[in-house]
Amino acid sequence: MKMALLPLLACPVCSGELEFASLDDHPHEGAELDSGSLRCRRCSVQYPIADGVPRLRLGDAMKDGRVASTAERFGFEWHRYPGPRPGVDRDIFLEEVQLPPAALAGKLTLDAGCGMGRFSLAALELGAEVVSVDLSDALTRLIRTMRENPRLHVVQGDLLRPPFKAGTFDLVFSHGVIHHTADTKGAFDRIAPLVKKGGKLSVWVYGTPGPWSSFKTNPLRSTRAWLRSALPLVWVLVWARQLLSDSLRVVTTRMPFHLLYALCWPLTLLGAVPVLKYLTYSVDPQFGVRLIENFDWLAPPFQTKHTKEEVRGWFEGAGLRIVSQLAHGVVPKVGFLAERPGP
Ligand SMILES: [Zn+2]
Repeated sequence: MKMALLPLLACPVCSGELEFASLDDHPHEGAELDSGSLRCRRCSVQYPIADGVPRLRLGDAMKDGRVASTAERFGFEWHRYPGPRPGVDRDIFLEEVQLPPAALAGKLTLDAGCGMGRFSLAALELGAEVVSVDLSDALTRLIRTMRENPRLHVVQGDLLRPPFKAGTFDLVFSHGVIHHTADTKGAFDRIAPLVKKGGKLSVWVYGTPGPWSSFKTNPLRSTRAWLRSALPLVWVLVWARQLLSDSLRVVTTRMPFHLLYALCWPLTLLGAVPVLKYLTYSVDPQFGVRLIENFDWLAPPFQTKHTKEEVRGWFEGAGLRIVSQLAHGVVPKVGFLAERPGP
């Protein structure tokens, strides 16, 4: 942990300021602190620093079996993910964050739900100062980079109690994450205030086909524009796919995750077969990536899906002005980039 991180942090219990619990813990400017503890000045709760990472998730949250299972399953998954893939990750990140590459330079950026940090690394490469937070232990894959790079900070924390001061970040992004919390809108409402005035928030969540009136106005990628000619049929198929997947997940979210991981192998092989591959949850050309993406769809206990109208309301309710909306393929992926008005 670097000194520069401390002023950004807040107690996840009471939002109070944190301080080093012992004077011995005070790292020198530019030095990394490997272990020690932080203490809240207001409520006195202490938090450990281990492997250089402040551990600001609360034990209480992990008492909910589904939350603990979420952290465990994502930890398992991201330790097996065959990345990072710098070029690929950068392209995906830039598409999803809906900003030009030059917009990241020098910006204090929060990766809210970083997993093993592939998009943190993309933002870092684009010149941002990055704070990466995640509930799971997947973030241990970032620790070596954190020690080597003065612009990367890693924190373990819960997006339902994000351990940061309000109005801190130039950019907060959370891509494909908060629909895996126990309260998707609650997580949104807690990360939105972390954006400073004039700063930006980029969030995408899983979409649902929803009512026809919503589906027919979804923003399709230019390469998918041909779908417009058969859109009612596409709507029915996307609904069928969602109902099938929801039924499967009743079983897969409850089975031991090692067994599910084994069952994902044949599904992943199917992902290389033309046409049939669309019955699976990943068509990535790389087997290892498809395997993890299939697991990623079937394993997490929480998985909510939303319409763009609903998510637009979240942004507006948080006082943010929508800048742009993410275009997508057949299955809706609801994402917006928005700005907090101000200087
Ligand atoms: Zn406190």
